[in-house]
Amino acid sequence: MTRIIDGNSLAAIVREQAAIQVQEFEQQTGTTIGLAVVLVGDDPASAVYVRMKESDCAQVGIRTFDHRLPADTSQAELLDLIDCLNADSAVHGILVQLPLPDHCDEEEIIARILPEKDVDGFTATSLGLTIRGQDGIRACTPLGVMRMLDYYGIDIEGKHAVVVGRSTIVGKPQSLLLLAANATVTVCHSYTQDLPSVCRQADILVVAAGSAKLIDKSCIKCGAVVIDVGINRGEDGLIGDVDFESVAPLASAITPVPGGVGPMTRAMLVENTVQAALKAGSLRQNT
Ligand code: NAD
Repeated sequence: MTRIIDGNSLAAIVREQAAIQVQEFEQQTGTTIGLAVVLVGDDPASAVYVRMKESDCAQVGIRTFDHRLPADTSQAELLDLIDCLNADSAVHGILVQLPLPDHCDEEEIIARILPEKDVDGFTATSLGLTIRGQDGIRACTPLGVMRMLDYYGIDIEGKHAVVVGRSTIVGKPQSLLLLAANATVTVCHSYTQDLPSVCRQADILVVAAGSAKLIDKSCIKCGAVVIDVGINRGEDGLIGDVDFESVAPLASAITPVPGGVGPMTRAMLVENTVQAALKAGSLRQNT
C-alpha cells in the first residue's frame, strides 16, 4: 500500500503548536512576534505565495509588516529597507519574496538580512551553519521535507537518498540535512548522465528540478519514498516534477502536488519565525 504523505495535515499540526508558542511569548514578553514581508513588483505567483504566507501568520497570531514595493524600486532603496527592518525590534523575521526584478542583485539583498532574522534560511551564515551542523536557521523547504520524513517514521539512517537539483535554496541544503541524518547522499543536476539509473538507486528520492513530470516510473526502485518539491504551472493547475500516476504504485510513500511539500515550506517559515523570536527574547533576557 502506498502511503500518501499529507503536507496539509502536518502543516496544520505545526501551526497549532506555533500558535501556542506565539501566545506564550506574548504573555511572557508583552511583544507580538513579527514577520516583515517584502514583495517587489507584480509577479502574480509571488503575490499568491505572499498572501498564503501572511494568512498562515495571521492564523497563528504572528503580526506581518507588509512592504509591497513597485517593480522599479532601486537596489539602494531595498538595502535601506532591509537595514531598517534589521534594526526594528518588532520585526523578528524578514522574508524577501524571490525572485526579485532583474535589475536587483538578489545575493546582495539576502546577504544584508541579519542571520538571526533570516527566517528563510538563505543567508551564507545560515547555510554555513547548516554545513557545520551547528545551531541556526535551516532553509524552509528542505526542513519541511525532513519534518515529513520524521513524522511519517521514514528511516533515513544508512539509506541511499538521491536529491535531484542542486539549487542553493532547495537541493544543496536538502542534501546536507539528509547527510546530517546519516543518509548516503547523491546529488543530481542538469549535467547528470542517465538520471533514471541514478534515481533507481534511491531509497529516498527528493526531486527539486522545476521540470514537470521529469521523474516517471523508469526512475523508481520498488518501495522508494518519493518527495516531490517541484511546482510547475500546467493548464489544469499545479504539476509536480514527479509523474504521480505512474510513480505512486511503485513507491512506499509519496507526496502529492499540490498538498505535499508546499504547505510544509510555509509551515516551516512560521516555525522559523517563532524560533527567531524565542532566541531574540532569550538573548535580551541575558543582556
Ligand atoms: P532551480 O531552477 O534553482 O534549480 C533546479 C535544479 O534542478 C538545478 O540544480 C538543475 O541543475 C536541476 N535540474 C533541472 N533540470 C534537470 C534535469 N532535467 N535533470 C536533472 N537535474 C535537473 O530551482 P529551485 O529553486 O531549486 O526549485 C526547484 C523546483 O522546486 C521548482 O519547481 C520550484 O518551483 C519548486 N519549489 C517548490 C517549493 C515548495 O515549497 N514546494 C519551494 C521552492 C521551490
